[in-house]
Amino acid sequence: MGRSDVLIVGGGLIGLAIALELHQQGVQVTVLTRDFEEAAGLAAAGMLAPSAEQIPRGPMQDLCLRSLALYPTWVSKLENLTGLNSGYWPCGILAPYLAGGLATDGLATDGPLPESSLSAQAIHSYQPGLGAGVVGGYFYPEDAQVDNRALMKALQLAVQESDIDLQIGVSVEGFAQQQGKVTHLRTSAGDRQAAHYILATGAWSGELLPVPVLPRKGQMLSVRVPAGYGQRQPLRRVLFGEKIYIVPRQEGRIVMGATVEDVGFMPHNTPAGIARLLNAAIALYPPLQNFPIEEQWWGFRPSTPDELPILGAGPCENLTLATGHYRNGVLLAPITAKLIAAQVQGNADPLLSAFSYQRFRPSNSHSPSVPAIPTTTHSAPNMQLIDTPLSATTYPTDSSLDPSTSNAKDVLVIAGKTFHSRLMTGTGKFSSLEAMRQSFAASESQIVTVAVRRVQTNAPGHEGLAEAIDWQKIWMLPNTAGCTNAEEAIRVARLGREMAKLLGQEDNNFVKLEVIPDAKYLLPDPIDTLKAAEQLVKEGFAVLPYINADPLLAKRLEEAGCATVMPLGSPIGSGQGIRNAANIEIIIENANIPVVVDAGIGTPSEAAYAMELGADALLVNSAIALAKNPVAMGKAMGMATKAGRLAYQSGRIPRKAYASASSPMTGTINS
Ligand SMILES: Cc1cc2nc3c(=O)[nH]c(=O)nc-3n(C[C@H](O)[C@H](O)[C@H](O)COP(=O)(O)OP(=O)(O)OC[C@H]3O[C@@H](n4cnc5c(N)ncnc54)[C@H](O)[C@@H]3O)c2cc1C
Repeated sequence: MGRSDVLIVGGGLIGLAIALELHQQGVQVTVLTRDFEEAAGLAAAGMLAPSAEQIPRGPMQDLCLRSLALYPTWVSKLENLTGLNSGYWPCGILAPYLAGGLATDGLATDGPLPESSLSAQAIHSYQPGLGAGVVGGYFYPEDAQVDNRALMKALQLAVQESDIDLQIGVSVEGFAQQQGKVTHLRTSAGDRQAAHYILATGAWSGELLPVPVLPRKGQMLSVRVPAGYGQRQPLRRVLFGEKIYIVPRQEGRIVMGATVEDVGFMPHNTPAGIARLLNAAIALYPPLQNFPIEEQWWGFRPSTPDELPILGAGPCENLTLATGHYRNGVLLAPITAKLIAAQVQGNADPLLSAFSYQRFRPSNSHSPSVPAIPTTTHSAPNMQLIDTPLSATTYPTDSSLDPSTSNAKDVLVIAGKTFHSRLMTGTGKFSSLEAMRQSFAASESQIVTVAVRRVQTNAPGHEGLAEAIDWQKIWMLPNTAGCTNAEEAIRVARLGREMAKLLGQEDNNFVKLEVIPDAKYLLPDPIDTLKAAEQLVKEGFAVLPYINADPLLAKRLEEAGCATVMPLGSPIGSGQGIRNAANIEIIIENANIPVVVDAGIGTPSEAAYAMELGADALLVNSAIALAKNPVAMGKAMGMATKAGRLAYQSGRIPRKAYASASSPMTGTINS
């Protein structure tokens, strides 16, 4: 291969490890990466823990064990190349458990304690200073750790000192393809070309290619053993509790983590997250309570629906995927580098087949074998369904014919937040707060939209409304009803976010964007809706825009980074049902983000119909609130939403022009 034989997108842990491996095999490599600092490789704990993580037997365990075995040689090669220490420490991992049925997060556990391989006495002598409640545990001597930040620094230096072309600050915006081959990349620094391309963009992979990789946020913190403590590092091993791990570094730092949060790319540490980590850590190892806090941070693990990585050949012949390493990317870096380099050189290891992206393709899909690759810049869909195996073209297999089980995992994820109900409701027009409350319960809705302006001004029917709802159970969807232009809607959205915070939903960044200048038909203004959406996305909102069923507008909103699109079925409150099914079907067909049919639904049959078309969710307010019995109607709408969804997943029979007898025509009695 000539210069820039291979172009790697993403220079995190995985991209850099692959780059170095390929370079050592004589391949000319370019790495384009947007931001070194955002890489999960820097945020991790650095545990190399296939045993403590209890990875079950199978290809994933093989992959992890092969990688663990490579570690000593891999890091020593890196250390020799750079003169930097990687902090690799084969210290083993101790997994203590607490007495009295208390798990390390302070939650009671039922049933007897597990059989221990270490007695209380043994574990306390293995690690002095453990909490008095620790009554036993396990020791995993083969597990190890590496100082992942030191490792990242060493990798970066090794890459920079070789003639690998590492370009930091370059954002790849899209892959262009023709006839099953990637032709070039569009980047913030112009178009780039190579013979072969590797996707290694971690949690952001879904922004560039249709791979099911979602961010899972993890919050972390560290303390430092104070000077004069007597020992530089009193912890001899990693402590692996039920919901906490404590990772000592030999130079005196102690790292603690980590939360697992489905909140999209929501930044920041939160008091709740840090408090949980600290409480659990102190219960496990009380001396920590007096150590000075040094730092807190967060990162985004690249997670996939089955929590296994996506490795190997991609949907184009010159494209390789190396992403979705979720919580084991540090462990898996050496083996990923080795196997991916071999695959690019034409020697694919058979183990890779278990990690192919194809496992997520619907089994009897009629879609082309090469998924469409975006050739234009587009932002990440920040709301996705994670039930891809049961999506449009997949029907339940024999083992999932039981509707109760086939729907069990059928969840809706909006901006990283999971919902089990696909029916959203509203608070307007109910005869009483009690009727509203009971109707919500009957409908099983988990998302309720609230008009920010009306609540703020205590408009008639809205007095005390915000306080009347149990916001611990119901997710607020503040809406910008009453706004007639983009500027107003943006202002009200910001107020809505504050309102949600005041009512205890600190992390709620949702807004249902309504820009409605038309008082007669209440039709939304497409231009100002797009304008407001673009601004609100930039401000970190998860935007759910209410639109007319215009497929092109829906696409533009998706590209702007909206969390959903919410096409109307017919004018708000009209009860006319779905008057624009053809357009809604086009929106559904084109969308990579969920489509929520909003407005116009008057009866449960119309709700079921919208779901049968393939809508991901519905928003129904007037038909429930103004029904003679809003509680019963809430229940009916909830049932219809479920029925429509199940019918959609089950695959309707094709329409035919002529009859087709349902009883066999052969073997009948003729006389
Ligand atoms: C809190 C936390 C704790 C963890 N603990 C452990 C652990 O103890 N053990 C373990 O094995 N693993 C752990 N992990 C997981 C591990 O960190 C990840 O699996 C691994 O870092 C993923 O590496 P990556 O290179 O795929 O992604 P990253 O390291 O995230 O790198 C991706 C890079 O791609 C770049 N990029 C993204 N989009 C673009 C674009 N469009 N154009 C150009 N560049 C782009 C980003 O800027 C980033 O630099 C942890 C992760 C977290 C968050």
